[in-house]
Amino acid sequence: MLTTTPTLHERVLAWYDEHARDLPWRRPGTAAWGVVVSEFMLQQTRVDRVLPAYVLWLERWPTPAELAAAAPGDAVRQWGRLGYPRRALRLHAAAAVMVERHGGEVPSSYADLRALPGIGDYTAAAIASFAFGGRHVVLDTNVRRVLGRLVGGEALPPPAVTRAERERAEALAPPDPLGPRWAVATMELGALVCTSRAPRCERCPVLDACAWQRAGAPPYDGPARPRQRYPGTDREVRGRLLAVLRDAVGPVTPAALAAVWPIDDQRERAFASLVADGLVPALTSAQPDPAPSNQRMPDSSGETVRQQ
Ligand code: SF4
Repeated sequence: MLTTTPTLHERVLAWYDEHARDLPWRRPGTAAWGVVVSEFMLQQTRVDRVLPAYVLWLERWPTPAELAAAAPGDAVRQWGRLGYPRRALRLHAAAAVMVERHGGEVPSSYADLRALPGIGDYTAAAIASFAFGGRHVVLDTNVRRVLGRLVGGEALPPPAVTRAERERAEALAPPDPLGPRWAVATMELGALVCTSRAPRCERCPVLDACAWQRAGAPPYDGPARPRQRYPGTDREVRGRLLAVLRDAVGPVTPAALAAVWPIDDQRERAFASLVADGLVPALTSAQPDPAPSNQRMPDSSGETVRQQ
């Protein structure tokens, strides 16, 4: 494996040079804050949906300090329909910590990034690598799938990152200064060619070295993988309730909230989870309620949720 590594690097990097998408957060001169915003948005959302939201976000808040000075509810409203809106609150909280502890700058070390709200192992490694050129193993879904097939001969990686995967990725990472480009190139190869359901192996720059193809492309035989479902779930109800709160220009009536979903128990459970996540307080107050768990869904008594 080690004797083929330089060739893998050269071929994947050459493919990336020719085929990489022109994404704004990858352009030379992109500020570290732009990389942070992109990584938060891309955590759960496809690139095509992130692109317009990313541009608008940075137009409104071009620095961490400007976002930190805004109300958390404005961040949730600006997040719009990107999904998983807690990310907006966490990004706002991360910006506040950057102001408080880092002079309004994005910290460059993995440890400082990892300590920010909403930033886990992957995101800290990605920001340290893409914004600051650090040599970190960046293991997103696409990279895991590429390395799992190319080197491990597996159709799909296990549901959660394993130590073996991390060690394999570290062993494969090229020496400085190629680490960040290798990370983004394998990520792009996974997004465009080595896709989950129908890899375009005939277009792959490392087809002849691919362990999975050499093994005859065996099917996945690991643990059952959780299936993402949306219709009818609490996530859908949360999204509908949040849309009413986010888009309202005045007080929100109980009837308006009740109209979004006919099952009372599920609607109330979804609302309670929005309260617990801080999203209702953020959208109904300039200053989030310090005890949001006390907040309850408005009932037929006529109590309303007010918009600022
Ligand atoms: S040959 Fe196919 S399966 Fe192997 S790395 Fe390339 S795209 Fe993925």
